[in-house]
Parts: sequence; C-alpha cells; structure tokens
Amino acid sequence: MQNMQDMKYPFTLPALPYAYDALEPYIDTETMHYHHDKHFQTYINNLNDALKMYPRLQNMTLRQLLCSRLKLPADVRDKIMNNGGGVFNHNLFFQGLAPASEPVHTPQGAFAREVDRTFGSFAALKDAFNEQALAVFGSGWSALIRDKLGRLRIVQLKNQETTLMYGTQPLLLLDVWEHAYYLKYKNDRKDYVENAWNLLVMPQA
Ligand code: MN
Repeated sequence: MQNMQDMKYPFTLPALPYAYDALEPYIDTETMHYHHDKHFQTYINNLNDALKMYPRLQNMTLRQLLCSRLKLPADVRDKIMNNGGGVFNHNLFFQGLAPASEPVHTPQGAFAREVDRTFGSFAALKDAFNEQALAVFGSGWSALIRDKLGRLRIVQLKNQETTLMYGTQPLLLLDVWEHAYYLKYKNDRKDYVENAWNLLVMPQA
C-alpha cells in the first residue's frame, strides 16, 4: 500500500498490507471488511464521481487537489475535499497499522529520544494523544504531526480534514469516526483508542 497523495484519477482501492484478521483482537475482522471494503471504497467512488466531468482536475494529484480548495469548482468543492480527504486519511491510517506481533509499536532511536524530549516519555505521549482522541466531538481523527517548525505536536482533525491543509507531516493517525470501532467497541471509544497502541506503527527514526 503506497501513499496515494501522488496518484491521479481514476483512483482505485489499494489492498491492505496485511490480512483482514491480522489486527485481531484489537480491531476485528468484520470492522476491517466494512472499514476498508465499504467506507474507504465509498470515499474513492465519490471522489472519482466528483472528478468525472472535470478533465482539468483529473490531471491533478490527490495532494494537489487537497491543497487547492479555493481553486476547485464550487459545485464539487466540498465533495472533493471531503472524499479526497477520506481517501488520503484512510490510506495513511491502514498503512500506519501492523499486527501486534510485529516489533514496530515502540519508538526507537532518534524518534524515541525526540518523544522523550518533547513529551517526557512515550507513556506521556500516549496519554496526550488519547486525550485528544477522546475529545474529538463527532467524527474525526487524532494525529501526531510534525509541524512547519519541525516540532512534534498532537492535533485533532475534524471529519476528513487532512494534514495537507495545514502543511504538516502526519506521523501517527488514528480514525475515531464511530465506523472505525463501533461494531466491536460500541460506545467505548476509550477502550478502542487505548488498544490501538498495540497496532500503530511508530515512525522510523
Ligand atoms: Mn474511517
């Protein structure tokens, strides 16, 4: 699964880089099928639909589209931003998870030292990230980003906002839309968010 930001119309659903049941028991197989095959596919379908009458926009990459909001035709602007954002975010999200058995869920090297310098400890980073994830009202994302000055920061993204809109680099991205956890966790977002740390892939130092 590669980063989709440089791809152009027509967008197609990338395969998961692991099996649907590979994230059990923290994210269940049924949720993965709905989330990837239905929700992610729908964002892709809606994005393609928004672009189909606009050859000029079909020549732009996903990144260019998402960074050109005011230049988009008014009748498809929201559809492109919402669904293009959904495509960009879901691609990063699924790519940023790995089975719990893989040794990629603990910060290493320079990144580990940066986490300690910035937050005090990895545990403190998790606490701050989880707090943001629980504070998202309605639908959105919790993210660890690198800001324009190169600093690590934890932010919320509403609905399908992307880090591209802020010129920041996403390092950890967690979907806290109800569709990401409701089948298994019901209303218990906290349990989902805490368990997600077994799956989130730490940035390479
Ligand atoms: Mn989602």
